[in-house]
Formats: sequence, C-alpha cells, structure tokens
Amino acid sequence: MIGCDCEVCTSTDKKDNRLRSSIMVQSPKTTLVVDTGPDFRYQMLRQKVKHLDAVVFTHPHKDHLAGLDDIKAFNYFSKKPMNVFADSLTEEALRRDFYYAFADTKYPGIPELNLNTITMDPFVVGDIPITPILVWHLKMPVMGFRFGKFTYITDANKIDDTEKEKIRGSEVVVLNALRKQAHISHFTLGEAIDLAKELQVPTAYFTHISHQLGRHAEIESELSEGMHLAYDGLVLKFS
Ligand SMILES: [Zn+2]
Ligand SMILES: [Zn+2]
Repeated sequence: MIGCDCEVCTSTDKKDNRLRSSIMVQSPKTTLVVDTGPDFRYQMLRQKVKHLDAVVFTHPHKDHLAGLDDIKAFNYFSKKPMNVFADSLTEEALRRDFYYAFADTKYPGIPELNLNTITMDPFVVGDIPITPILVWHLKMPVMGFRFGKFTYITDANKIDDTEKEKIRGSEVVVLNALRKQAHISHFTLGEAIDLAKELQVPTAYFTHISHQLGRHAEIESELSEGMHLAYDGLVLKFS
C-alpha cells in the first residue's frame, strides 16, 4: 500500500510484494487473462507475455479494469482487436471508463476491443471452455470462472448453494481472502478456508490479500495441508 511502512509493505520477501489480483490462463493454443487491473502493464512486462488472445472480466471495480488501455500493445503486434468477455454490468463500466475506445471517430493508438457479452451460460475462448459462477461482492454480482479442474474466485463474500455446486469437483480452487478480520465484501482467511473444506476441494490458494493479513511466510506456516497463500508469479500446471 502506498505510504505504508508495516511489516508486509517493507518486507524483503518477494512473496510479500503483491500487485493487484489477476490470472493468466493458458492452453497450448490460447492465452487469456482474467481482469486487467492497474498493474496489468507491469505484469505483462514482468512475465514477458508476447501474445494474448482475450481478456475475461470478473466485475467492474477499478482494481480489476483500470489497465485495459495497455492491451493496445497486443493490438499492435497481432494487428487484431482484443477479444473482451464481460457481463452487462462490466460492459457498462468499460463503455464509460474507456469511452474513447468505443467512439465513432477513433484517434490512432487507442485500444481496439471486440466486446463479447457473457451471461451465466458456459462459453469458450479459443479452445478453453469456461463456466461462469455467480458470486456476491456484498450486493454486486461478480463472475467466478471454472476452467476444467481449476476454479478462480476473486472479490466475493457470499456464494449461493446452487453456484457452490459448480465449484465442487475442482482439483484447485482460488478464493479471495483479504485478511483475518471481518470485511463487508471479501471473505476473511477463515471464511475462505471453511469454504474450501466445505466444497472438499483438495488444494486451495488464497488471493486478493491485503497487507493487513500479515507476512506470507508467517501465514503460510499456519495453514493446514492443501491450503496455501497465492503469490505473484505463482504457476499451476494441469494435465
Ligand atoms: Zn502495509
Ligand atoms: Zn478487487
């Protein structure tokens, strides 16, 4: 956090240096990212990403959208508009926040987007099948996504029973866990642990972590088997 000198913000452990939450999902043929937060440009540079087929959005909050302008580098190299997948609520925010990309007369060098509206129906990006899972961020509906054996859920503090069933059977689930103390719109670490146990998913990673949770090494050592804190640059492979 800007201006903070707590033990996490001043830690020399790289796993305590957390940028905004986002993931990249890759098959042999397709590469997509879920969300483009304000750190998107640096994340792409850091991971040396050269090709991106699509962006899939979870919800319209700024920490998940703000970096979209920088997809123009991918437009430049691919000479194609970027495929963007968003629900109608997020689409509204995209059209407002990036109005210039949707203008009738476009000036050169702006991001080129090919907007696809998603609903709760499963959809496919390239050769990656995706099942949306509706989760609640206080009163805002947020999209979680299941990719085969892997489920990614950020920014939620409640999931209805019918949607929970879509997570069951995953090998790995990623859940947001902001901190230990209660929060109005995010799961606490305890709530995320309980949910992973309830759904009997053998491996859980926690993300969207606040500096208030504490140091990575300390919290990681408190977690039981199969439970982990995610960290920037973490790679998971599925066969
Ligand atoms: Zn701090
Ligand atoms: Zn967020």
